[in-house]
Amino acid sequence: MTNKWQPEAMCKNMRDPRHDILFEPINIGPVTSKNRFYQVPHCSGMGWRRPNTLAAMRGVKAEGGWGVVNTEYCSIHPTSDNDAFPYCALWDNEDIISHRKMTDEVHKHGALAGVELWIGGSLIVNLGTRLPPLGLRNHPQQDTSVYHPGQTRCMDKNDIKNIRKWHRDAAKRALEAGFDIVYVYATHGYLLSEFLNPETNIRSDEYGGPLENRVRFIKELIEDTREIVDGKAAVATRFSVGLNDSESYDAFALLADLPDLWDLTVPDYSVEMGNSRFIKEAALKDSVLKARQLTSKPVVSVGRLTSPDTMVQLLRENVQDLIGAARPSIADPFLPNKISTGNLEDIRECIGCNVCYAHDSLGVPIRCTQNPTMGEEWRNGWHPEKILTTKKRKRVLVIGSGPAGLEASRVLGEMGHKVALAEKSRELGGRIITEAKLPGLSEWIRVRDWRITQINKCQNIEVFPESFMTSESVLELGYENVVIATGARWAKDSIGRHSNCDFREADIGMIISGDEVLEKPVKSKSKFVVYDDDHYYFGSVLALELKRQGHQVTLVCPAGRICSWGEFTDEQTRSNTEVIQAGIKVINNYKIEAVTNGIAELSCVFSGETKEIFCDFVIPITRKIPVTDLYDDLCSKKQEFRDNGIEKIMKIGDAEAPSIIAAAVHSGYRSAIEIDNPASKALNFAKREHPLIK
Ligand code: ADP
Ligand code: SF4
Repeated sequence: MTNKWQPEAMCKNMRDPRHDILFEPINIGPVTSKNRFYQVPHCSGMGWRRPNTLAAMRGVKAEGGWGVVNTEYCSIHPTSDNDAFPYCALWDNEDIISHRKMTDEVHKHGALAGVELWIGGSLIVNLGTRLPPLGLRNHPQQDTSVYHPGQTRCMDKNDIKNIRKWHRDAAKRALEAGFDIVYVYATHGYLLSEFLNPETNIRSDEYGGPLENRVRFIKELIEDTREIVDGKAAVATRFSVGLNDSESYDAFALLADLPDLWDLTVPDYSVEMGNSRFIKEAALKDSVLKARQLTSKPVVSVGRLTSPDTMVQLLRENVQDLIGAARPSIADPFLPNKISTGNLEDIRECIGCNVCYAHDSLGVPIRCTQNPTMGEEWRNGWHPEKILTTKKRKRVLVIGSGPAGLEASRVLGEMGHKVALAEKSRELGGRIITEAKLPGLSEWIRVRDWRITQINKCQNIEVFPESFMTSESVLELGYENVVIATGARWAKDSIGRHSNCDFREADIGMIISGDEVLEKPVKSKSKFVVYDDDHYYFGSVLALELKRQGHQVTLVCPAGRICSWGEFTDEQTRSNTEVIQAGIKVINNYKIEAVTNGIAELSCVFSGETKEIFCDFVIPITRKIPVTDLYDDLCSKKQEFRDNGIEKIMKIGDAEAPSIIAAAVHSGYRSAIEIDNPASKALNFAKREHPLIK
């Protein structure tokens, strides 16, 4: 092995004066934020069921320098219930106690705590409380991601009166819980958006019809909340404005100076929460600027902002007064502090994969591809910036430099172990290198780049590229701990979610794996079939890449839509649109049974009806096979490895169990911690928030 890397220590600790503006305090009504960094309300998958997990996570953000830290959507009353999603609630005294935990954690670090009071409407079905949801029409649930049976109850005047009372009561509880900012939440399709929308608001009284009437309820709620908080907290309003919706600005103008703060977004959630395949940084800028000119009150807005220069530009150009962030604060809770100390190269930039959002939509705590400690602050005591220094320095050999190997090396190095990272290729990064070159995925390279920057700064990590490791070379080196992060490769068979067995017949020359086709592109223009039984991004982006290379491409998928799991990462719709518009033929609800003589034989998953497509190659995207030759070989030589001073061999990341990149990074982090504390796997992951039994 040869060390081609020259680590250099870099620590600036000096803020760039151009970024000073980001650290100017700002008044938000009666309260003051110490700087312009504002963590907007965002779901966490923690909610009222996991108050300790939630308080610890929000506390770390405040510690990282955010001037304001908000909750997720917080229900005012049992008629707004979004079980089985873990949302927050302020229904009773126990909720006050839970929230107090969060506000205490936030206040400890000099940040303001905000709460987003939420009224459901026809997007929800109240699966938990079983009370009929309140809406403006007799209408089925409007959230088209799951078609739950059941309709809303059409609200009458008395319901409006009740909601005003419930909102006031919740605002009172918010004050008791220690919140400094209380929201009126008037967007994202929930009840207040229904009032604004002339299609859904069919009322003929003073709350329906002309725009002045449709904004009335929001106006009343802002006034009610102001009266309740009575100068002890600020009143914020979350609202959508869009350049293609001129009425949204008219509505905004009618309310312009009522709240103390505007939290502005756009009407299209796939832009606001845009997956980086389709939406880049600062995408809301133009829509927000137009509204900013209509109000004298401070404005905050998001846009997956990770670049301090872009942030400064938004403030200088008067687009907004505060830098809103959800995902950038998840990927790097210490983003403000890093800008403050001038350590810009340490910012762990969000890659816009939306894996965080996917998991709260699945009802579990958020996790992050870039930040493996996200969601583990309370359960495991993990911290994004602090790693316990080891008491016993060990020599650790990490093999493979994909996300798992890079993360394990980084963390082991920071713990103080002596680390050697061996990679067979010239370039570090594993799967990230190939995947980041696929259409729309360029930002994913940040996963590799951030880790290499950190590794380069750590004196006790040596990196050895172009070092293919065998069991002999591992034994020869005799490191006490060996971490095998050799990844996984796409299989060349049809075994996957829709089949337990291989193609009935397979012409070997016609089958190419998902890795091979990217490593050695086919030069002659050919007819490709991508068989996507994986149902996430890879099948779609691979098809787009082949199309970009000039091939004829058909995408066959046994599910009703391609990119099914992209429902959770907010990329399914745009992924389908992009594939169709690129001229890729999509065949849904079919499996591939056989591949022979220039033909792929398909069968319908429902009827069994068959059809044939002529093609040159079939690429099965069905499952990945872990690369474990080295691990298996070493395990078969147990006595020899003991004789050579090796104490432990671990298999991590895709080599252990192929999954998403976030899982590989988490596995890398976990394996490093477990080298010092082998018990943590069994003990810490068992830690749950048990309900209090009275
Ligand atoms: P993960 O997602 O688990 O990190 P990847 O597939 O991204 O896995 O990365 C695995 C890395 O391991 C690749 O860069 C690959 O070149 C490297 N690798 C595989 N086998 C060996 C080996 N025997 N010696 C050194 N590096 C290896
Ligand atoms: Fe960003 Fe992805 Fe992390 Fe979410 S999971 S914060 S989108 S890097």
